[in-house]
Amino acid sequence: MDCIFCKIINGEIPGKKIYEDDKVIAILDINPVVDGHTMIIPKTHVEDYTKLSDDLLLHIYNVANKLCNDIMDKLNSKGMTFTVNYGDSQQVKHFHLHLLPDYSLKDKEKEVDEVYEILSK
Ligand SMILES: [Zn+2]
Repeated sequence: MDCIFCKIINGEIPGKKIYEDDKVIAILDINPVVDGHTMIIPKTHVEDYTKLSDDLLLHIYNVANKLCNDIMDKLNSKGMTFTVNYGDSQQVKHFHLHLLPDYSLKDKEKEVDEVYEILSK
């Protein structure tokens, strides 16, 4: 299967990973909408949110909780928006939860590599 997220998870192509456990990874979006734009992705190929098991959904929620405060602290963001796309709005057909730090409408200021340096430590 030609899935970019499965390839990142399998190490076939690089990803800017800021979190990993046995069930999920979190990587920076390479075309960020804002600084710190992160995606939490299950390691198993789950097409969209309707296919997520309860266990996996709960786990993703718990990881989001943990990463949310960490990202906000490190990037001085005052809020966070969680986004799940579905149907034609979902570009990659492998479930991912977007974490979008809210800088109160400030423009993007950092390069992805700079954000990666901060969040991967
Ligand atoms: Zn996949």
